[in-house]
Amino acid sequence: MQTAIRTSWPTPPPPAAPRPAAPSPPPPSSEPAARRRWPVRGRRLAAAAAAAIIIAASLAFDREPLAAVAILFVLVVPFEKLFPRHRQPIRRPLLGTDLAHALVSPLMTVVGVAVAVVVGALSLAWLPGLALRPLVSMVPPPLMPFLGVALFDLAIYWTHRWYHEVPFLWRFHSIHHSTEHLDWISGLRSHPFDGTLIAPPFFFLVAAGFSPEFTGALAVVQVVLGIFLHANVRFRLRWLHKLVITPEFHHWHHANEPVAIHSNYSVFLPAWDLLFGTYFMPDDRRPTVYGVNEPIPDTLVGQLWHPLRGMGNPLRIVRHPIRSTRALFRFVRQLLRDIRRSTTRRRNVVPTVSFAVAAEPPIPAPPVAAASGWVPDPTWPAPTVEQLIAPARPAMWGPTATRPMPPPIATRPMPRPAPPGRRGLADLMGWDDDGR
Ligand SMILES: [Zn+2]
Ligand SMILES: [Zn+2]
Repeated sequence: MQTAIRTSWPTPPPPAAPRPAAPSPPPPSSEPAARRRWPVRGRRLAAAAAAAIIIAASLAFDREPLAAVAILFVLVVPFEKLFPRHRQPIRRPLLGTDLAHALVSPLMTVVGVAVAVVVGALSLAWLPGLALRPLVSMVPPPLMPFLGVALFDLAIYWTHRWYHEVPFLWRFHSIHHSTEHLDWISGLRSHPFDGTLIAPPFFFLVAAGFSPEFTGALAVVQVVLGIFLHANVRFRLRWLHKLVITPEFHHWHHANEPVAIHSNYSVFLPAWDLLFGTYFMPDDRRPTVYGVNEPIPDTLVGQLWHPLRGMGNPLRIVRHPIRSTRALFRFVRQLLRDIRRSTTRRRNVVPTVSFAVAAEPPIPAPPVAAASGWVPDPTWPAPTVEQLIAPARPAMWGPTATRPMPPPIATRPMPRPAPPGRRGLADLMGWDDDGR
């Protein structure tokens, strides 16, 4: 686990002040005391050994990732060297972690698919699919693939948006977004449970009458296309901007800049972002800073474990069935509430205040000379100091949750209007989204 707080700046930040103990949600002190006493070096060695075991097991299961990494390297790296967006070496920081993610992907896919089936079934996304089925059956066969792509993309737009804007789901998706160097292999960094993002769209489409083969092929294309969308290339492909997504579109999605956060959720067609008000593709600038503003471990094992921290021992349900069931209901209610907030929020209202409890205190940006070898693209305007030190993506959960959140610098967060008939009283009482 890295000890410094991750900032929007790509170089390692200066050592952070010690964190105050936070009562809820589970702070770092929830780690067993013996584990905290481990020297950092010992923990890193243990993490490396565990990663080596997982990689060896995965390669014993399937060696295809070795060929896939080699093919990716040969196909994409020449373009990155000839037309780089950011000047960064091939051996940039945390390349080993991303390589490890690539090598363990077969084993992680097995785990992820097992969980995704459960999530897809529990999501009830098949219900609207069944409702649409009679209409879909009337569509002429030649038009079916187009409709399938559009519906799949619509469904994945919403699940992707929820994985960003619902704190619990963001735990898993934040691993993918923690990369601060977008390139040929960075897109492979993701938590195995992050793949559950595709499960509801899959169930939705199959229930609507599309074949599992067609839907599965769409999911595979989405994953493969995603790899190339992270490449460090400076092609803008401006004429495609509003038709299909481009690396520029997805780079803005990864940008850790206040104006770009919570934007560009589509995975095929920007039309959904245009329709729902989350499209962000400025003409005059390019993304310069990537990553998240919360502590994410650097190692493979750390990143696999990170989203699960603080969830408690699942065996507690045996010892405390009633209490655990109540907690589960509370969790589901909160999850649905957060999903409703994300779904019904107004355009240009980002879920910083309502979702985020706190943010890391801003840390002054270090000098431009990047220790990591990452240098901002000199042909485009560098971010302003305000953008660099702003709490771009506030911590939505975790050990710093009790700190007051500084106001975001963007003018976007605004209280959502109360439902008709309650507005006046809500204004009077200063209620938040839930009318509490
Ligand atoms: Zn995302
Ligand atoms: Zn991505």
